[in-house]
Formats: sequence, C-alpha cells, structure tokens
Amino acid sequence: MNKVDLHIHTTASDGALSPSEVVDWAVKKKLKAIAITDHDTTLGIEEAIKRAAEYQDFYVVPGIELSSDFEGEEIHILGYFINYMNSEILNITNILKESRMTRGKKMIDKLRKMGLDITFDEVKKITDKKFIGRPHIAKILISKGYAKDIQDAFDRYIGRGKPAYENRYKLSVSDSIKLIHNSGGVAIIAHPGLIKNNKILDIIIRFEIDGLEAIHSKHNDEKTEELCNYANINNLIYTGGSDCHGSLIGNQPMLGDYFVDYEIVEKMKRISEVKYKG
Ligand code: AMP
Ligand code: FE
Ligand code: FE
Ligand code: ZN
Repeated sequence: MNKVDLHIHTTASDGALSPSEVVDWAVKKKLKAIAITDHDTTLGIEEAIKRAAEYQDFYVVPGIELSSDFEGEEIHILGYFINYMNSEILNITNILKESRMTRGKKMIDKLRKMGLDITFDEVKKITDKKFIGRPHIAKILISKGYAKDIQDAFDRYIGRGKPAYENRYKLSVSDSIKLIHNSGGVAIIAHPGLIKNNKILDIIIRFEIDGLEAIHSKHNDEKTEELCNYANINNLIYTGGSDCHGSLIGNQPMLGDYFVDYEIVEKMKRISEVKYKG
C-alpha cells in the first residue's frame, strides 16, 4: 500500500511544524504523499512543494481546511488540488486572516479585563504568517502559568461559550464549497464524525460536495466504518488523514498514523481536472 495522509497543519496556521519539517517527517514515515491543509490559508503550500522536490517520488497535494458556518455549527470543509494562486482564494483567505486578527485582539482584551497579563503582540510574535488561532493564545496562557495545558485554556477561557471567547467571520458551508470548486479543487467534509447533529451531514451532501473524510484521528473504528458505508451509498469519495498539528507523542508526530491509499489522490486529481479545472 502507498500510504498518504491527507490532513496536516503547519506553522502557516496553528501547527507546530514548518511545511519543510512536515515533508521531512512524511518521508521518514514512508508516505508517498501528503496534503497540506492549513486552516483558512494556503501560505504553507509553496514551501512544502519545494521541499518535496528534494525527494524522489514524494508528492504534496495543495489543500486547505475552511472553517465554515452551518446554522451556528462550525463545519470544516477540506479542499484538495486547489489552485492556490487563484485570486479569489487569495482574496478571501486574506479577509479571513484579518478577521482572525480582529477577533484575536477582542479575545485578548477580554482576558486583560479579567486581570490576565497578556498582550496581542506576544501572541502575534509566536505566529509565522500572522495567522492568529486560539491555540496561539492558549500557548501564551500556558507559558504564563494561567493554564496547565491547551485543553485547560480552552475549558476555562477561550473555548466556545467560555468568558474570553469571541466569534469570527466564517464563510457559509455552501460558499466554502463554491470557493474550492472555483479554484479547481475537490471539496470534502472534514471529520464528519465530530458533527453533533447527524441531519446536518444529510443536508450538506446535497450541496455538491465531492466526498467526506472517513478516516480521522478522532473517529473510532465503528465511526470510520459507518462513514465509509455512508460514502459508498451516496456515491461520494472518502478520504483520510491524521489532522496532525505537530505535537509529539513519544518522540514523533502522529502524521501518517491515519492514512488512505495513494489511489485516492489520483482519483481526486482526476475529478479536479475533469470537473473543476476544465
Ligand atoms: P480557531 O480556528 O482560532 O477558532 O481555533 C480552533 C483550533 O483550536 C482548532 O483547529 C484546533 O486546532 C484547536 N482546538 C479547538 N478546540 C480545542 C480543544 N478543546 N483543545 C485543544 N485544541 C483545540
Ligand atoms: Fe487547528
Ligand atoms: Fe478541522
Ligand atoms: Zn484540521
């Protein structure tokens, strides 16, 4: 089997490994390909593709994971084989980045009003491409002793509904799918096993979605099997990946521990060329 991990974050969003480090690990773990799927940004792709060119027979699929809104629930949509230089995707991801900045500032204001010593500059400094995610705020909270780990920071301060939480601008699910298709990519529902309301999945698959992510680090075996069957019945492709954010378990990241066969990459490439790039 030629293993591929199709869900990986880098320092371009809230991952801990740079795009080059991600590629190095993927080769070390004997994968044939990976997809770079940073939240709301494509800025990590180029570096990963350049690094991959230093290896033989290893490929990087240009991807993205768009945080989207469906009637108040946050649904993530993955895009694969997107043309990441497409002006529409660059414009929209820029707007998303700005709104992450504004929201980050508001959350830090709330924390300061609660008496915590934390500044926006401290948070911005630990981001690579000025992408502000809640994990960056969590990291500063931990380093200053306000939280014992990321989970604790989310539970007490920055999780949804917690005192320092602020919403941010998100595309609707259907606009996310359109944006991915307009930039030549294939659109896949990320980690559908985490969607609380089952009916939502039945609705979204009618939005011209191409597939769903059946294999994911947060799906148990039963859920994975259920989602593979669901994909087959509904004539959708199914993908898989670790959703690795770079933290080390033992002394390795979980990159490559959740995977599908390379034939899925070829299938998506074909769909993107025939249906969306034509
Ligand atoms: P944001 O996109 O800025 O709203 O932050 C969401 C990101 O925070 C997700 O992509 C995860 O990487 C991370 N995250 C969300 N909830 C938790 C949690 N309970 N514990 C740890 N990380 C989380
Ligand atoms: Fe994340
Ligand atoms: Fe996600
Ligand atoms: Zn992810």
